[in-house]
Amino acid sequence: MTIAQKIFADIETGSWIRKMFEAGARLKAEYGPENVFDFSLGNPNLEPPQAFKKALEKAVQDPACGLHGYMPNAGYPHVREQIAQTLARIQKKKITREDIVMTCGAAGGLNIVFKSLLNPEEEVLVTSPYFVEYKAYADNHGGRLKTVPARDDFSLDLDAMAKAIGPKTKIVLINSPNNPTGAVYSRVQLEGLGRMLEEKSKIFGQTIYLVSDEPYTRIVFDHVEVPPIFDFYDQSLVVTSHSKDLSLAGERIGYVTVNPRACYRQEIVNALTLANRTLGFVNAPAMIQRVLPDLQGVSVDVAIYERKRDMICEGMKKAGYTFHKPMGSFYLFVKSPIENDVDFVQILQQERILAVPGKGFGGPGYFRLAFCVDDHCITASMDGFERAIQSIKQL
Ligand code: PLP
Repeated sequence: MTIAQKIFADIETGSWIRKMFEAGARLKAEYGPENVFDFSLGNPNLEPPQAFKKALEKAVQDPACGLHGYMPNAGYPHVREQIAQTLARIQKKKITREDIVMTCGAAGGLNIVFKSLLNPEEEVLVTSPYFVEYKAYADNHGGRLKTVPARDDFSLDLDAMAKAIGPKTKIVLINSPNNPTGAVYSRVQLEGLGRMLEEKSKIFGQTIYLVSDEPYTRIVFDHVEVPPIFDFYDQSLVVTSHSKDLSLAGERIGYVTVNPRACYRQEIVNALTLANRTLGFVNAPAMIQRVLPDLQGVSVDVAIYERKRDMICEGMKKAGYTFHKPMGSFYLFVKSPIENDVDFVQILQQERILAVPGKGFGGPGYFRLAFCVDDHCITASMDGFERAIQSIKQL
């Protein structure tokens, strides 16, 4: 075989996801894309805000020389400075540009964090269901992903997490607002998590880092608070991006912030910077970095996602499905009416509806709907959702 065995095995493991995409492509070819209701991808359907296009034009016209060359691997100092000022203002904390490394999206951020912190076989503990790529990212850097089920309402199960932490745990990874569940962790939960990690770090005689993956921080509904994790635990890092809040997923822009109070903060920042270079990212894209100072505080119109959340929740409830109303992100994690979520997703396909089985997120018995889609897709699919659940009841 030409390709490495490991990636061959990974491709095989993910093959049912591939099958699903293939089925989707077939349906779209047969019925026309407008007659297929595709809830499978978390690709934001809102255009970036107008301010982005203006800032981009300004950046393109900038007459200064050398703007397209190499730069410090952590990113432009003036861009990091602007971001630090925004974070300091919002979080009411002293955060400086020295705490920030610009990255190729949150995915690039997670990879440089794992590369910087993980020794071989060390564990990244995460609550399931979880973003499907975490396993591969930990594996990329010799680490192991260990999962602990969330509570029934998808909040953190702190007791179960405490039991799962052991001498090999190097990172506890959280994601709030969550993909795929839409859960947002409360201040009380995060306080408890911080206390628990302090205790466990003492017991095992080594630092356990808290890494918070936050690309959806600004996509929250009903004025729910996303508490800043630096308030609760010093040994912490935040990974974020503008893929979702500015609809810039293809532009690959994000950043990592290291808690200014973390021990070895400078060493961690140095490691992240080197990892950016040696993993081949080198630096986050120059042009998009340069537009960010003009976009501090700007995001897509979250009210539109909130309206879509309400539409899909109302429709799915009426059709007879059960779920927890998402507090943020743009995903609805729905209980499958039959135990086997892969089978149910196939039943939905007969109604030309594309969803992702919960199994793919370590959450079997559920399916995920990404509601960052046109309103028409939501309204026109509801009859199909109803027929699908009714067909189960008739069995
Ligand atoms: N983390 C979570 C929870 C996500 O849902 C995603 C993308 O969907 C990412 C990270 C990767 O984001 P980015 O496109 O910024 O790399």
